[in-house]
Amino acid sequence: MNINQNTSETPTKILVVEDELIAAENIARNLKKLGYEVIGIVDSGEEAIEAATNNHPNLVLMDIMLQGDLDGIEAAGHIRSELKIPVIYMTAYADDDTLGRAKLTEPYGYLVKPFKPQALRTTIEIALQKYQGEQAVELSYIKEIEQVKNQLEGLTNQEELAALTSRIILSDKFAKFVSKIHALKKDFSPTISVICLGINRFKRINDLGYEWGDLLIKSIVKKIQEFIPQNSIIARLNTDELVIILEPINTKSETTVIIENILEQFTQPYVLKQQKFLISANAGISIYPVDGEKLGKLLLKARNAMEYCRIQGDNRYNFYKKEAGKYQSTNTLQLENDLYSALSNKQFKIYYQPIVNLKTGQIVGAEALIRWQTSDGSIILPGHFLPLAEETGLIEAIGEFVLKSACEDVKALQDIGIGKIRVGVNISARQLNQLDLRQRLVKVLLNSGLAPNYVELDINETILMTNETTAIRSLHGLKTLGIQIAIDDFGTGYSSLSYLEKFPIDSIKINQNFIRKIDLNSTNQIITSAIISMAQKLNIRVIAEGVETEEELAFLVKNKCDELQGYVFNRPLPLVEFASLAESLASCPQMINDWINQQKKQVISLTDEQL
Ligand code: C2E
Ligand code: MG
Repeated sequence: MNINQNTSETPTKILVVEDELIAAENIARNLKKLGYEVIGIVDSGEEAIEAATNNHPNLVLMDIMLQGDLDGIEAAGHIRSELKIPVIYMTAYADDDTLGRAKLTEPYGYLVKPFKPQALRTTIEIALQKYQGEQAVELSYIKEIEQVKNQLEGLTNQEELAALTSRIILSDKFAKFVSKIHALKKDFSPTISVICLGINRFKRINDLGYEWGDLLIKSIVKKIQEFIPQNSIIARLNTDELVIILEPINTKSETTVIIENILEQFTQPYVLKQQKFLISANAGISIYPVDGEKLGKLLLKARNAMEYCRIQGDNRYNFYKKEAGKYQSTNTLQLENDLYSALSNKQFKIYYQPIVNLKTGQIVGAEALIRWQTSDGSIILPGHFLPLAEETGLIEAIGEFVLKSACEDVKALQDIGIGKIRVGVNISARQLNQLDLRQRLVKVLLNSGLAPNYVELDINETILMTNETTAIRSLHGLKTLGIQIAIDDFGTGYSSLSYLEKFPIDSIKINQNFIRKIDLNSTNQIITSAIISMAQKLNIRVIAEGVETEEELAFLVKNKCDELQGYVFNRPLPLVEFASLAESLASCPQMINDWINQQKKQVISLTDEQL
């Protein structure tokens, strides 16, 4: 879009979205007087999107409170994210939740109705200037990215990489193959073969020194290149695994010939520095698109097929078959497979564990905790599958599912009148590293309609510590959305309390190891009360996790911990059960209050010496 249009020849084009006709006409009249071109007046979110899509205005003036299916914020969200057109909100009044949601769409200004022509002009001009500035920055950013990409491409041509494609651009190249296929005519449907080549007993050679291992890989790659089409990709997946992605348009029989040629090479010894090494290999193949459309899935399946033929003997190969999964040599491979189908078969469920305010006794929040309900009805806890999901990258899809479900569920609870509770969602290391995490979050929040201040991201202390600088930057970016941030498992990393100041955080969750039998453990008592008093000084909320006994609870109440989560109050519950609990408590908060007061009577007090 040409934004340089606010000149005498080409006036700035503005779309007015307002459902009060008289107000709309008045605004349009003022706009024209000020020299702008009004390209339309519409009164609903749907029409606003349609008009903006068809006419590409330079700016949209949007009434925040539109009647109808799409309110002003939802329509603006679409216009901002899909059409990249700046939006200014017009509002007579708005509560904090509405303003919180509006902020997510990153508007270019607000006009409080009724407004004077002068205010209208100033707000529009500031918005256009801001937008122009951003466009310039974005252009230079795109240029920079292009440069880095070119450098990466260049790298692969360098000799020292032995023509091995860097893992970073593996998916980029694969995507290019896919688009190549889609650009072809439909009457012939080519495929892409993804081959996982496992080199057996590689460790023996690597044990002689890494240079031996690298030398071997280089000569294997050199041999392979003789048999594969020129534009195919080879990358090293792990120490002893290579992936070969054949240039598209291969038929299965062509792939078979190539694999047989490659494996044939392993029947002869490799000679490195005058020494002979007899090694063997196995290959597994998956095919795009029949075995999957995503590279991650294809790699897993190819590896799966490779592992399967490893059991059958050296220098064999296998195309991926569903049944192969049943004969896996390790449980891990089986689990990898099952995890993939669990997501598409909707076997992941979210449980909610209440978080209770210790002063009021009310439920103020809930932590969303994932459970895997397998086809036989059994429930698997996250500790058994999340580490593997993190390793394989599936955590990104799982994490997105949890975030989306949690926001939708809590919004649904708010809609049926259950008090305004916040929801804690665990964010994994991989998710925190996603460059577009902030955008994803915005999308989920806008789609669910939940105001951002009800979402708390739980980020593990160790994750924050391992990449402090990036984490600080990323958290500041997330914080501007108006969400809350908690440091999870506090005390398990290198907890120097002083670093709390560096992070933009709202809560810390004390790890359950400190809480366990705290009434009997004076060291943990000292640590916990120090954490509480330090956090209070920094205006950070403290949540004690894993509170199981009344004695532990009593200590926390006495030491003015803000909130607790634990079996003493409730285990994680399915949404419906959580809802009925939250509802009964909301109508009778006195219930918990009495109970807590009763506990206070038996409180264990810390003496000054102990502190
Ligand atoms: P976490 O974030 O520290 O969550 C608290 C864990 O403590 C939960 O275990 C909860 O069931 C358990 N817990 C709560 N109260 C008590 C208690 O009084 N006693 C004992 N012994 N345990 C209690 P869970 O659900 O098994 O989750 C374990 C971990 O898995 C979580 O630890 C979190 O790090 C991770 N996790 C769970 N759901 C997700 C998710 O959706 N995404 C990600 N990335 N991680 C998740
Ligand atoms: Mg947590």
